[in-house]
Amino acid sequence: VDAIASQVGVALIQSQSFTDLETLNQQLEGLERTRSNLIAITGHELRTPLSTIQVCLESLANEPDMPDELQQVMLSTALSDAERMRKLIQDFLTLSRLESGRVNSNPEPLALQECIDLALSRVRTHPTETRSPTIAVELPTDLPLVKADGEWLVEVLAKLLDNARKFTPAEGQITLAAEPLTEQMLEVSVTDTGRGIEADRLETVFDRFYQEEGALRRTTGGTGLGLAICRQIVQNLGGEIRATSPGKDLGSTFYFTLPIALGAPSKVTKRRR
Ligand code: ADP
Repeated sequence: VDAIASQVGVALIQSQSFTDLETLNQQLEGLERTRSNLIAITGHELRTPLSTIQVCLESLANEPDMPDELQQVMLSTALSDAERMRKLIQDFLTLSRLESGRVNSNPEPLALQECIDLALSRVRTHPTETRSPTIAVELPTDLPLVKADGEWLVEVLAKLLDNARKFTPAEGQITLAAEPLTEQMLEVSVTDTGRGIEADRLETVFDRFYQEEGALRRTTGGTGLGLAICRQIVQNLGGEIRATSPGKDLGSTFYFTLPIALGAPSKVTKRRR
């Protein structure tokens, strides 16, 4: 959080947008409020699983006669909340490294199809899942190469795919597509036929820790940081990301843009899964 704050502070001081000291002061006060909010939200998000772990371990320590079955429940609850804390810390560190520019990035000409294949191989199947939505990849044969860091691009694709799977019923459909927008940029889309997003949430979904289920009813195992990370990666890659949805239960599409690798030959790809 400190790293983000100092980064934004430096950007503010360097910018020409303030006319006098008073304006600068107001901007710094706003920044300080954002920083305090972030610390409060992060603390809250970490305290919730930690409290659960503490209650479970205390019960196990104080009730030696606890039935075996209940002991197992306590242990698996504590373990899954410890895993949740690990994911939260990992995602939060990734986000703060991305926001402060402290990440390695190696942009090179890449075939989108290869990145999609890698992302598909990473998308997790939930242990209890027997069926999952069909995934179709529809790329034009003459799609130009993109200029991007492969690891970060695969990370964005995998997160969007993972979300599409989480929020789409097994009989649904996920489609990955891409098309050139201009001579310099192309647009990638991940469309699902899942639960959709209401119009007033299309921007909020990118906020840190936003989850429609709310902190106490999380069932999907996510951290609420995935889309904030995606937005930051896409911005670092020189593009923009947005969400659209016709409404609740009508599916959604996440679009993001990427720079085209100018001067590189295009790669012929067309595939369906
Ligand atoms: P997480 O997936 O870990 O909860 P994200 O930042 O990736 O966090 O997503 C934030 C929230 O945005 C999700 O909890 C969900 O409410 C909403 N969301 C994301 N992707 C989709 C989608 N494909 N369809 C419907 N809602 C979505």
